[in-house]
Parts: sequence; structure tokens; C-alpha cells
Amino acid sequence: DTKSVSRKTKAVIDLSALISNYQYLASLAPQSKTMAVIKANAYEHGAIEVAKALEPVVPAFAVAFVDEALLLRNAGITKTILVLEGPFKKSDFSTAIAHKLTLMLHTQQHIDWLKNQEQYRHDTWIKVDTGMNRLGFHCDEVADVISQLSPSQRKQLVLCTHFSTAEVPENPKTASQIAKLNQLIEQFSCQFSMANSAGILNWPASHGDFNRLGLALYGVSPIKPCAIVEPLIPVMTLQANIIAIHAIKAGETVGYGDTWQAKRPTTIAVIAIGYADGYPRNAKAGTPVYINGHIAPLAGRVSMDMITIDITDISDVAVGDTVELWGKHVSVDTVAAYSDTINYELLTRLSARLPKTFV
Ligand code: PLP
Repeated sequence: DTKSVSRKTKAVIDLSALISNYQYLASLAPQSKTMAVIKANAYEHGAIEVAKALEPVVPAFAVAFVDEALLLRNAGITKTILVLEGPFKKSDFSTAIAHKLTLMLHTQQHIDWLKNQEQYRHDTWIKVDTGMNRLGFHCDEVADVISQLSPSQRKQLVLCTHFSTAEVPENPKTASQIAKLNQLIEQFSCQFSMANSAGILNWPASHGDFNRLGLALYGVSPIKPCAIVEPLIPVMTLQANIIAIHAIKAGETVGYGDTWQAKRPTTIAVIAIGYADGYPRNAKAGTPVYINGHIAPLAGRVSMDMITIDITDISDVAVGDTVELWGKHVSVDTVAAYSDTINYELLTRLSARLPKTFV
């Protein structure tokens, strides 16, 4: 086929799906303020566009570190931004004051810095480690931390914890994390935040003054195994076009390493997406690709700029046709399962060269 084609590889971001997912998930926790977690470039959906679309409906955003927050401020986002992780340096407190950022405090050094920052008037978010053993004060340190706060900081206190296994409903660990934080909340009668996506979906007892909604906002389920959570709509469609079609004989191999061999006369379509775009190199043969209403299996290894699929059983396919790598027909969870990874990783590691369009 000699038809001329250009590379049409892109992520299409459905902003109305984003809003509808947000509204559904927020409605599951009507007593909570549901913050939109848009770190890592909104799980690589485009933080600025996502923030602009969500700003009219969300009370606040959360990001991982200060530069991610500044990117949003520079784009004109004015809603509260919580900075979840850091690491923080002393000057971040002046930045936080200048740009109205709320910092999640999780070391004694952060508390010391806060003491000299009269103009820092945001909620005092303190991260408590209830079992993740990553960041945060241990439960038995919290009283001492609170004793160091000024009366106004104390009044605006939000105790926050993060779950390690909330996506597994039968695992008692989450109930134990909830109980640990609840004990502190009762003791200090303060605001709190525990729930991530899985907490919002699975653990009503974790719904707090603030919930921190990440993955599910993008229409992807944090609940295993590969559960589609109605009525969430996948926000991202990763798509690319066919740049060549050719026939091979039974016994011939396809791609690097000759790992895939045709068992019959086979038609192979070459798609303009590879691991340099973020499609996982370790996707196994058989990983589904959606094309013109059909599913075709990946055949042979993923290359840097291309993949090859077996379209022998599909007749109405031509060079230039668009395929979906993941989105509304093939779940990113399915591709993750074929690639020995998780949906979070596939979304966030899409590469900088991959264009995005917003619809
Ligand atoms: N809260 C914190 C502290 C996080 O690190 C994250 C993401 O990893 C979230 C909330 C959002 O989690 P999820 O994407 O599972 O909703």
C-alpha cells in the first residue's frame, strides 16, 4: 500500500468525561470536599487543561511538589492547591505565602519553619503515618506536633493519612488505618483527610472533611482486578494510525528478537506508536488493540516508534486507519495486565513527545 500517511499518534482527553467522573465521585461523599489530585501532569492528562476544566466544580487541587503547583498558578489557576509530598525547603514557605499554596507538613523541620511564618494562613495539614511507613509523623508524635502550633494554626488543623491497600476491600489494614486516625481526630477534634480514590469507592468510613481523588477522576479504576466502575468514563484515549500493512507467510517472524512467529499466512498492520511514546515495551503478544470495531492482538515486540498487530481476521482495515491502544474500548487496566504493571504507571509515563488534544 503506497498511500501517504502522517503520524497521528496522540492522547485525546475528554474533558466532559472528566467533569462527569468528578461529579459522580464527589456525590459518593456528599459531606466531604473532594479535591482533585492532578500531580504528574494530571496523571499525564495535561494538568493545566484539566485544572481549567475542573476549577469551576472542585474546591481544591492537590499536586506532589511546589513546581507542579507553580505551573498551575502561572496558568491562572486560583483555587486552593495542596502540595502533598515535597520535599520542602525553607524558602518553599515564602513561595507558599506568595502563591497561596498549602503545604502538607510531615517533619519536625517543617513545623519549626512554620513557627516563623505568620503570613502563612492556610489550613495546617499534618501528615500522619498510620501504616504506609513512607512519610508522616507517627501517631504518638502528633500531640507534641500540635502543642507547637499557634492557636490559629491549631484551629485550622487537618490531620491527613494515606492508605496502603484501600483498593483491596477485604484487607483489614485499611480499617486499622482509619481507626488510628479516628482516635487522633477525636482527641484533637480537628478536620481530617484520608480517602484516595479507593477510599472514596470502597471505604465510606474514610470519607473526611477533604477527600483526595486521583486515579478514578480519570475514569480508571483503582480497584483490582480490572473492575470497571460504572459510571466512570475513561478520560484518555491513546490512539495512533496504521502506517503500513503487509502479508507474511506461515513460519515468518515479526519484530526484534524474532519472538513472534506466524502460524498461518498472516496480515500484519504496523501502528505508529512505540515505547518512546509511552506504550509499554513489555506488552506481551496478544495485548488487545481496538480497530474499526474489532480487537486485534499485538504481534511481536514493541519497538521504539512502532508496534505490529495481527489483522488477519479483520477485513475492513486500511493504511491510515486510527486504532485505540487504550481508552473507551480497551481499558488501560487490560494493557497494564498484559505488561506486568499498573494503570497508574502506564498513564503517567506517557512521553513528552506524545501530543495531546482536548475535546
Ligand atoms: N493522596 C496522596 C498523598 C497521594 O500520594 C495520592 C496519589 O498517589 C493520592 C492522594 C491520590 O490517590 P489515587 O490516585 O489512588 O486516588
